[in-house]
Amino acid sequence: MAGNIKLEVVTPEKSVVSEEAQIVIAPGTLGEFGVLIGHTPFLTTLKLGIIRYKDAHGIERFVFISGGFAEALPNKVTVLAQSAERRRDIDIERAKSAYERAKSRVEAKPKEDIDFVRAKAALDRALNRLKLAETRK
Ligand code: ATP
Repeated sequence: MAGNIKLEVVTPEKSVVSEEAQIVIAPGTLGEFGVLIGHTPFLTTLKLGIIRYKDAHGIERFVFISGGFAEALPNKVTVLAQSAERRRDIDIERAKSAYERAKSRVEAKPKEDIDFVRAKAALDRALNRLKLAETRK
């Protein structure tokens, strides 16, 4: 079926994407999924990863998300993410500092499991941001 869908990516702080897309591919917790116009409605949780979409001109765009929820409707995909940035907005120096901070926390073998889990999650965010930013031309 021809036509675009509306993609909205929002975080508690801001709207990151609000535009028409030809196709949206997102990292569902049960696996990556793609949404085209006319998709059956569904709700899913999202894991940390990359949302890829083709904008109205067919240009591929990339958005880092640290996890969240997605609602797909026949003409709209809404993503509620804990944090999200477009590839072009990733601050590499910031991600490198976050990586170093998280790495030393992980290596310090924290006494509390929860500290380790938090540090590991921060490490994953930083690594994925750096990996995505490296694909910028
Ligand atoms: P940091 O320790 O640098 O804050 P973090 O992984 O803890 O990193 P998050 O909690 O995921 O950060 O995000 C907090 C806010 O900062 C969000 O608005 C997110 O989009 C933004 N943000 C975090 N890291 C970066 C980055 N490297 N480039 C651009 N924006 C970032």
